[in-house]
Amino acid sequence: MAEELKTYEDLTGLLLSAERTYDLDMIDQAYHLAVASHKGQVRRSGAPYVSHPIAAACILVELGMDSESVAAGLLHDVVEDTDVTLEQIQKQFGASVAHLIDGVTKLGKIPYTTREQQQAENIRKMLMAMADDVRVIIIKMADRLHNMRTIEFMKPQKQRDKALENMEVFAPIADRLGIRTVKEELEDLSLRYLDPMGYEEIERKLALRQGERADFIVTIKRQLSERLAPLISDFHLEGRVKSINGIYRKMFMQDKGMDEIFDIFAIRVIVNTVSECYSALGVVHDLFRPIPNRLKDYISIPKPNLYQSLHTTVLSKEGIPFEVQIRTWEMHHMAEYGIAAHWKYKLGITKRAGSLDQRLSWVRKVLDNEKDSDDATDLVYTIKSDLSQDTVFVFTPNGDVISLPVGSTVIDFAYAIHSAVGNRMIGAKVDKRIVPLDYRVQNGQIVEIMTTKEIGKGPSRDWLKIVKTSEARNKIRQWFKKERREENVQEGRAEVEREFRRSGMTVNDEELMEMMAAAAKRHNCSTVEDLYCAIGYGGIQLAKVLPKIKEEYFKHKNPVPPHSLKITDASAKKSVTGVLVDGMDNCLIKFSKCCNPLPGDEIIGFITRGYGVSIHKKECGNVPDDLALAPQPERWVAAHWVGDVTEDFQTTLHIVADTRTGLLMEITQQLYNLHILVHSLNSRRSKDGQSVIVTATITIHGKDHLQTVINRLSNIPDIVSIRRS
Ligand code: MN
Repeated sequence: MAEELKTYEDLTGLLLSAERTYDLDMIDQAYHLAVASHKGQVRRSGAPYVSHPIAAACILVELGMDSESVAAGLLHDVVEDTDVTLEQIQKQFGASVAHLIDGVTKLGKIPYTTREQQQAENIRKMLMAMADDVRVIIIKMADRLHNMRTIEFMKPQKQRDKALENMEVFAPIADRLGIRTVKEELEDLSLRYLDPMGYEEIERKLALRQGERADFIVTIKRQLSERLAPLISDFHLEGRVKSINGIYRKMFMQDKGMDEIFDIFAIRVIVNTVSECYSALGVVHDLFRPIPNRLKDYISIPKPNLYQSLHTTVLSKEGIPFEVQIRTWEMHHMAEYGIAAHWKYKLGITKRAGSLDQRLSWVRKVLDNEKDSDDATDLVYTIKSDLSQDTVFVFTPNGDVISLPVGSTVIDFAYAIHSAVGNRMIGAKVDKRIVPLDYRVQNGQIVEIMTTKEIGKGPSRDWLKIVKTSEARNKIRQWFKKERREENVQEGRAEVEREFRRSGMTVNDEELMEMMAAAAKRHNCSTVEDLYCAIGYGGIQLAKVLPKIKEEYFKHKNPVPPHSLKITDASAKKSVTGVLVDGMDNCLIKFSKCCNPLPGDEIIGFITRGYGVSIHKKECGNVPDDLALAPQPERWVAAHWVGDVTEDFQTTLHIVADTRTGLLMEITQQLYNLHILVHSLNSRRSKDGQSVIVTATITIHGKDHLQTVINRLSNIPDIVSIRRS
């Protein structure tokens, strides 16, 4: 990714198209002084140094900052890095610009380390500068943001240090000042260096469904628009995808899958008045089914950073959850630019938006509290608890950053480094002091894991109850799986026998062996011993093995057909969808969108949070190959089709054919002859223009029916292939 150099033309373009009028003469003088004084200096990227202050100035204009801030942005590095003095600047540009530059320069001088004392000092200086003139911080943010955009040219350690500092200090302050645009970009840029793999995974997944998402947003906007138009004369709709860091927090910190995140999509409704906000909310809840307890009224009770909006999460007609944010234009400007809106939109004078003074009252409060404290680190504590965080970043003794969810223990840390470290762990030191194993690590701490060389000493089963991350839990399970086979087999067999007795099932050894052999096969274990072992170490939950065994048992011991059987607690019944999930009665079933299972397919269920069981094809890419090693094996449950399924299913066919006229008509004709309900039918040309790709979403009654349809369509001349998605 090459750096796109900002030029003075870019800056003047922005200045001229801005909503406010700028003192172009002063900014021009500042530009020329910057060029002259940075002459000969180059950035690590090889770009002329002056491109950096120009880029920072551009960011300031985009945020709507005033002429003095833009001039100071252009000159923010001259006092530090060149012969130009503050006196010169004061003479040429006035006391205000000089004061801003002095503030930014002083902030830059604080050496950054991870130690709390120094960090406290860093934050304190920033708060003081903020209380003095908040523009200093905004200029510093613009400086930092541009440096982050070009940080690929720096050394890896420096990248991580800066990224961590952004996450801990700059992004929370941007958030506190309400400057969402800067906060989100800083976080996304920093995450890329703190967890490159996690970042790329989300980026890849987002790219994968980009088209689908765009279509989804267009549809929702159209549906909303139709219903809002008769009620509200003037409204504006926006659709967006959550920031990568936002998705990351939910996925990795709250351990959710991408499709479990409610607000990957957010739709914004922007209106003119507060009463229209509530009318719009009524329309949204009437049009889409709201998810309970997800309505938040930040209009009546603004967030601490004075953010205002109505938030609700609803389900689309296809059952996809998305967030709707409803606000007035004034609230919108505040939400995007926060305190900067004070300059950009001349906001901050109205009661609702809060005056600049009000907005900064927290800074003064924090600084006041600090005066009463002897320990500067109290300040860091205040800031950190004040600016809520759900990730902690800790360090190895070598200075590598490890990010963990809040509440993680030293054991989680050990397994985050390597399973070999976790498995041989006997203790831990945090900041050189020995701590208990359930000690929860805090931001900025240096954690050292003490290990033993003794072979065969492994984790304790109790650790499973202490650890926070699923990564650590899985690695501990894996260890027991590999190292303690005999113990696990015994434990598993004992569990099974206990459960048999509890359910009043009496079998002899031979019968037991036979039933367990069938169960082993069902759960992809090659021997009964393997199954016992898996139950023993917790890779397969007994609750998932038993229902089928019980069903078989009662089938043999009792001539009554299974569907009229009164099976004990953990039995399953026929569900309306034609799918039976082991161990669950009448659970909510949904068919996953990724593989659209049809009757006849081999299927498996995944217990979602709050949405019942989602059914996948066994061969679906989202189903782990080895369930025992999957992150949350207990959430995968066996599922089967039951009886004669008469319900209808939607499926999508991809038909590739040689380009010719009349083809689409013939396909439609065939589908019509077969009495197939068509939901959508699209055709587009392949990239090389040689063939045409037809996508048809249709209703069918099962796998055999589908095969009939495919056979009939295949008879149409020039069709090359038909594939079901
Ligand atoms: Mn700079």
